[in-house]
Amino acid sequence: MLTTLKRIVQEMIQIPELDQALFRLASRVKQTMRVDSCSIYLADEEHHVFILKATDGLHPDAVEFVRIGFAEGLIGLVGQREEPLNIENAHNHPRFKHYPEVKEENYNAFLGTPIIHQRRVLGVITMQQQAMRRFSENEEAFLVTLAAQLALEITNADIRGALSHSSGVGVLPRQKNVRGIAGSQGLAVGIGCSNDSSISLRNYVVKRCVDKDHEIHRYRRGVELTRKHVDDLSSRLDSAIPDDVKSIFQLYHQLLDANSLGREVEAKIREGWDAGSSLKMVVEDYATRFQNMDDPYMQERAIDIVDLSNRILLNILSDDDGKMPAARDVTQPSILVAEEVSASMLAEFPRAYLMGIISIRGSNNSHAAILARAMGIPAVMGCQNISPALINGKELLLDGYSGEVIISPESSIRAEFIQLIEEEETLAERIDAEASLACETQDGCSISLFVNAGLSADIETTQYANAQGIGLYRTEIPFMLRERFPSEQEQVELYRQILMASPEQSITMRTLDVGGDKPLPYFPINEENPFLGWRGIRLTLDHPDIFLVQIRAMLRASIGLTNLKIMLPMISSVGEVEDAARLIEQAYLEISDEVSDSDVILQKPKLGIMLEVPSVLYQLPQLAKLVDFFSVGSNDLTQYLLAVDRNNARVASLYNSYHPAVLSALYDIVRQSNANKIPVTVCGEIAGEPGGAILLMGMGYRKLSMNAHNLRKINWVIRNVSLDEAKALLAKTLTASSHEEVFNHINHYLEHRGLGGLVRAGS
Ligand code: PEP
Ligand code: MG
Repeated sequence: MLTTLKRIVQEMIQIPELDQALFRLASRVKQTMRVDSCSIYLADEEHHVFILKATDGLHPDAVEFVRIGFAEGLIGLVGQREEPLNIENAHNHPRFKHYPEVKEENYNAFLGTPIIHQRRVLGVITMQQQAMRRFSENEEAFLVTLAAQLALEITNADIRGALSHSSGVGVLPRQKNVRGIAGSQGLAVGIGCSNDSSISLRNYVVKRCVDKDHEIHRYRRGVELTRKHVDDLSSRLDSAIPDDVKSIFQLYHQLLDANSLGREVEAKIREGWDAGSSLKMVVEDYATRFQNMDDPYMQERAIDIVDLSNRILLNILSDDDGKMPAARDVTQPSILVAEEVSASMLAEFPRAYLMGIISIRGSNNSHAAILARAMGIPAVMGCQNISPALINGKELLLDGYSGEVIISPESSIRAEFIQLIEEEETLAERIDAEASLACETQDGCSISLFVNAGLSADIETTQYANAQGIGLYRTEIPFMLRERFPSEQEQVELYRQILMASPEQSITMRTLDVGGDKPLPYFPINEENPFLGWRGIRLTLDHPDIFLVQIRAMLRASIGLTNLKIMLPMISSVGEVEDAARLIEQAYLEISDEVSDSDVILQKPKLGIMLEVPSVLYQLPQLAKLVDFFSVGSNDLTQYLLAVDRNNARVASLYNSYHPAVLSALYDIVRQSNANKIPVTVCGEIAGEPGGAILLMGMGYRKLSMNAHNLRKINWVIRNVSLDEAKALLAKTLTASSHEEVFNHINHYLEHRGLGGLVRAGS
C-alpha cells in the first residue's frame, strides 16, 4: 500500500497546476482502490464553503460549481468533526444533503476524510461506491494517510501557484504573505537571495513563459555549457577510468543529444513553460520511469539523469558570462534565503547588503537564530512553505517580530513598512545616545550586563558600552568552521586574543558544546535524538584528548592574565563536574610545570557550570560545593523542561521561555543560589529580551549576559523601570496559566511605560 501511495503522490506533485494534479489524484485513487468515485473538495475560508475541485465519478460539470457550506451535508460534517466518516448508506444519514448537480444518486457507501495541515482543515477527500457497504479498515487507513500527504502538497502548491503566476513578462507580481517563526527581531526590506547550492530541479518552481524562442535559446545554451563541463570532466579524469564510469559519461552524452531529452524539453517550452520548468517536467517523468523499473541498474540511472539535469538547470540560470548569482556578487540590499542558514554562509555574505535572513528549517532558538540576533539582523525561521528558489530575486518584506514574510509587496504595504523602519531607526538612535549611562533602575538597583560572544566568525570583545565582561564565550564555532579539530596552538592564539582584548574584565569561556544542532563536519554523530544524546560535556568527557587540549589551550592563553573563567555545558549530574574538575586540575598542573619562570602568573581559573538540564535544579546545594559560579542556560532549560526540541519548527509554538513553569524554575534557581551563596548569571536568550530582563531582575538576578546587539536596549529598559514594578510584574506572571497570559502582562507593562516599541514593529 505504501508503494502505491508514494507513487500516486509522486505523480501528483509532478503536475505543476494544482487543479490538474487533483484531477489526476482523484482518478488514480478511484482506479487503484477500485471504487466508483473519488472527489476532492477544498475549503474557501473567506466564504465558509467547500468547493468541489476535482472528481472522477461525480458529474464533471459540478466541479467549481458545487459549494457546500462548512456546516452543511456530509462534507461539512467531515470538516466539522475533523475525522473520517465511513457510512454504508449516505442517503440515510441525517446530515445527507442532496446536491442535484453532482449526480450521486447511485452511490451509497461514503468515506470522507478531512485534509488537515497544522490544525487547519484545508479540504475533504471522499471515496464513494454503489454497493451498500462500509469501507474496510485498510481503505480508511489508505485515505487518511493520503490526506495527510495531500495536506502538505496543497499548502505548498497554494503558495507556489500564487508566486509562479507572477513571473511572466508584463504581469504584475501578486503579493503573497507567508508565516514562519520570529527568529530575530527587526524589520527588513530586500531582494531574496538564495545561494546556488539550493538550485536543483527538486526545488525549482515551475513557471509559464512569454517569449518561447528566448526560452529555447536559454535551454540550448544551458545544454552547450553542460556539454563543455562534461567534456572537461571526462578529459581531466585518468584514461584508465573504470567501464561503469565511462558508461555514465556515454549516457550523459546521449542525453545531451538534441534528439533525446532536447526534443521533449523544447516541446514543453512550446506549450508555454519556461526552460527550467520544461526540463523539470521531462526529467522528473524520466526519472520516475527509471525508478519504477525492476532492474536495479536502471533504477540507479535515474540518479544520473537528475544529476546531469541539475547541471543543465544551473547553466540555464547562469547569466550570459556563465556566472551564477552567488552571494559574494550581491550588490543590493538582500535577504538571504537558505534551507538551513549556517555560520559560514553568514560570514561569506557581504554584511553591508545583508538586511535579513529567512531559514526554511530551524526554529527560534536554533543556533542560526541566535547568531542572527547576535548580529542584529532580522530573521524568520522555519518558513517551511516556501523554497529558496521560489523567492530568489523577488522583493521581500520581513517582520522579525511576528515571523511574517511578504513576497512581492503591494506599494502601499511597502510604504507602511518603510515608515515603521524609520520609526525603529529613530528609537535606536535614542537608545544609542544613552548607551554609556549606568545600568541602574529608577529606584537604584544596579544590574551587571555581560556579552555572549563567539557565535559569529568575527572576534567579539567586551568593548561595548557598559559590558562588564564576557558572560558566555561559545567556543564551538572555530571548531565548526574548520575541517579538523583546531590544534592546541591554534586555540591558544584565538583565546589569547579574546582574553587580552579586555584584561580587566572577566571572560567566561565555555568548553566545547557540540552535538545537538551544532555538528562538526569532520566528526559526524548520527543519532535519533541529538539533543538528548552525545552533546556538550558528555562528548568531551568521553574524549579527554579533546577536552584536555582545549583546557590546556585556555590555560596557556591566560598566562600572565587573571580574567579567565571556565564553564561546563550540559551538566546533568555531580559526577560529571567531579570528572571535569579532575581533568582541569591535571591540565593546570601540566601547564604549571611547563611555565618554569616563577614570576609568570598562571592563575587557577574559577570554574562554573551551566544550569540547563532540569536534573541539576534538584542538586544545587551539592553542585554549589564543587564550583565557583552558576550560569543559567535558559535556552536549553526551556527545551528540556518543556520537552520541546528548540530546533523543530513543528513544535515551535510550544517552545517558550515565558512558560510559567520555566519562570518558576528560574525563580527557584536564583533563590537557591542566593541561599547557597554562589554567584549566578543568566546567559540564555531571555536575558537579552526586554520583558525577560525585567522579570529576571524582579526574581533577584543581578547579572545578565546577552548578545552585544541587545546590550544597549536592555540597558535602556532597565534604566526606565523600577525594581518594585519588576517585582509586581513578576508576581502576576508567576500565577499565570500560560505564556500568552505572561506576554499580556509584560506587553501591557511595557506599553504603559512607553517601551512598547522594543517588542513590536514601530516606535
Ligand atoms: C542556553 O542553552 O541557554 C545557552 C546559553 O547555550 P546554547 O544556546 O549555546 O545552547
Ligand atoms: Mg545550552
